[in-house]
Formats: sequence, C-alpha cells, structure tokens
Amino acid sequence: MNRVVILGGAESGVGAAVLAKVKGYDTFLSDNGCITPQYQARLEEYGIPYEMGGHSPEKILNADLVIKSPGIPDNVPMVCQLREQGIPIISEIEFAGRYDNARKICITGSNGKTTTTSIIYYLLKNAGLNVGLAGNIGESYAFQVATKNYDIYVLELSSFQLDGMYDFKADIAILMNITPDHLDRYDFKMQNYINSKFRITRNMSENDCFIFCEDDDITIGHLSEIVLRAKKFPFSQTHVVEQGAFLQDNQICVRTEDDEYGLPVEDLSLSGKHNLYNTMAAAITAKIMNISNETIRESLKTFQGVEHRLEKVLSIRDIQFINDSKATNVNSAWYALESMTRPTVWIAGGKDKGNDYEPLTDLVKEKVRALVCLGKDNTKLHDFFGDKIATIVDASSAEEAVQKAYELAEPGDVVLLSPCCASFDLFKSYEDRGRQFKDAVRKL
Ligand code: ADP
Repeated sequence: MNRVVILGGAESGVGAAVLAKVKGYDTFLSDNGCITPQYQARLEEYGIPYEMGGHSPEKILNADLVIKSPGIPDNVPMVCQLREQGIPIISEIEFAGRYDNARKICITGSNGKTTTTSIIYYLLKNAGLNVGLAGNIGESYAFQVATKNYDIYVLELSSFQLDGMYDFKADIAILMNITPDHLDRYDFKMQNYINSKFRITRNMSENDCFIFCEDDDITIGHLSEIVLRAKKFPFSQTHVVEQGAFLQDNQICVRTEDDEYGLPVEDLSLSGKHNLYNTMAAAITAKIMNISNETIRESLKTFQGVEHRLEKVLSIRDIQFINDSKATNVNSAWYALESMTRPTVWIAGGKDKGNDYEPLTDLVKEKVRALVCLGKDNTKLHDFFGDKIATIVDASSAEEAVQKAYELAEPGDVVLLSPCCASFDLFKSYEDRGRQFKDAVRKL
C-alpha cells in the first residue's frame, strides 16, 4: 500500500491526512466543497497536496486506500466509483486505530454519546490517568495519534464512523441506546441503523467489556440474536442487574465482580432521567478501570454539563431559557420535555430526518403551552401538533423564535429550544443554532 486518499477536508479528514503523511504514505486530500483557511494551513504545514471545490478522479481512483469523512454519504458518485473499482474505503477511526496501542473506551448510541464520553474523560483525568478525548468530539483521533502519546483514549463514535470500521477493536464498548435517527442515511431501514450501532462490538474478545442499557428494547432484541464474547455490564433504571448498574433507594448501585458501591442520586451534578443512564455507564466504566470510589463520587458531583445539552441560559421575568440545541432527534427531545417541571414554550423544528413525533404526544399535551416552529419548512410540525397544542407560530431565525417564545411565555414558564431536528436548513450546525439562541436570549 502506498497511496492514501482522503475525502473530506474538515477535522477528521485533515487529521487522517496528517497521520497518513507522518506514516510515510503518498497522501492526497480532496474536498467537494470548501476547506477552511485553518485546515488549509494545517495541510500546508505537513506538505500534504489537496484540492477543493470538486473531486479529480485521476487523483483519487489511483488510491490504494480511501479514508472517507463520516459526513459524506455512501451514495455520492465518487464513493460509488471507488466501490466499483474495489478500492477499500474506511473511516478515520479505523485508520488511526491501526497505529494506536492505547486502551480504547468507545461510546456510541443515538443519544447521550457526548455527555457520557465527557463524563468518562473527566473521571479518568481526575484519577490522574494519561487519557485522550477524541472521535466525534474535539480534536480528531487521527491527529492525536499522529502527534501525541496517550495510554487510554475515550472515543465518541457516531454510526457513520462505525460504518467505516472493520478491524478496529474497543477494549470497553458502550452502547447508550438505539432510537430512530439518521434513517435518511440508512435507506429508511431501522435494522440497518441497528447493525451500524452494533459494529462497536466487532472483534471484541472475552477480555473486553460491553456496557449497554437493559431498558432499551431494541438493544436487548438485537443482543439476543448475535454472538458476543465480551463481558456484559448492563445498566437499568427498572430492575436490579447482577453485574453493572441499577437504581435502588435513590442511589445508583454499581456492581462489578469484586465490588459494589452506591452513589446517591441527589449528589450527582447532572439531573434528568437520561443523565442517570449516562452516569451509570460512566460509573461502570470507571469501576472497570479500577478508579477509586472516592474519585468517582467526587467527579460525578463536580462534573459540569456540556454546552447545548439542557444548558440553562438565563432567567428573565422568571422565564427560564434552556438551550438543548443538540436534541436533533425525537428521543432526545422526549427526555428534555420529560425533565421539564414547569409549563413550557417549546421551540422545535429544522431539517426533519424522517421523524415520527407520536412518542412526544403525551408529554406535549401535559407540558407544552405553545410551540414555536423554527425551520424552513414547518408543515410536518403543524400537521402533527396542530390539534395537540393551542398555539403554534412560525419563526425563521433564532432571534425571531426567542422573541415570539418570550411573548408567549408567562412568569414561571420555561422556554426550551429542543428542536428534534437537524439544524442545516437555517444554521451552520447545532452549535451555531445554540449560540444564536443564547445570543438572542441575552439581547432580550
Ligand atoms: P449525542 O452525542 O449522542 O448526540 P449528547 O450527550 O450530545 O448526545 O446529548 C444530545 C441530546 O440528547 C441532548 O439534548 C440531551 O439532553 C439528550 N440526551 C442526553 N443523554 C441522553 C440519553 N441517555 N438518552 C436520551 N437523550 C439523551
């Protein structure tokens, strides 16, 4: 193997290019759109040739290996052509994993990945371990493998990254949950998406650990159909488990082969049912990593939430504004609405990924006073919620949405941005949407 071509010139692609170059390959990067000046500078720094604004077949189809950014769908013409020619296409994580001997803790799921990944990283750091944080979060894994030396990595993995992984092996794999998401990229077949999530367990042996949610029917259903050699550590909020984590007397009980300890729920810094799951997964991981109960307790007490996840922004006229811009699917918005204890003016909408809003019906009827639709095309929201919410209005910018929500809210209410949808119709990203929301709130 000599020539490595990278498709996509953002964080993961540029990181993969740097690693390929550092490992001595004839490296080339191609991006159909723009590459930011910052990434161009990095490519130049490492002497990596690149192109943008289109793909030149003659520079790509001569590759021995292609690393594809997770954002590029499998059905774009260049990817189809590569497949026809039998050129292997892998993800940046698969590539970097080949050059990394660190212990790997990998987290996937439809929701809760970033939060759980961040808690685990925080716990391991507090325990004094030499640990890196990568995957779908922060600096790319490949770039860190090329330039740093960690004993352990905590990796957040999306299904798109998992799709391009073959020989990679996690030492500890965590599957938070599986609920419909990104179905537009999976031929609208749930089974394809489930299979993708379970790729996190590929190549695992008896010495590895699989942590998963036993309250999640989809996970359990699929688990019963496959052979998995890893040690299993389930977590549940409904029943006791033999080994793993569960709720008892308002404590999270964590059980491993040789220990059992309890964490009072009231001592946890994060609230909400979903965060209990995230905390359970993190606490099991910490236990497997032999971290002291004291460090675990202290860390879970002091962990600060992650931006754009049920993030409290400001309270104005006793109206609490909450930024949950990262809730880009129905399930995450369900947990957000579930955790609301006050009447809610709900801002939702954006790019619909084939959503079924039915699971939200009861919560919406119980808690939502008004809905502000923040999307280019709000028809689906109007059609579904029209007979369930008394007031529904449209907005086409964060500022307009905040203004309208503020007018509709009464003292004692919450204004919750928890969109259920991707952001790309009106915003650059969910971060952009969350920041514009927060700016608009601060300007009120
Ligand atoms: P991910 O990285 O998988 O998108 P995040 O931790 O960023 O997950 O959280 C995304 C959204 O989902 C947030 O709006 C958050 O409130 C909600 N959420 C977090 N953890 C969970 C969970 N375990 N189950 C369901 N929803 C969750």
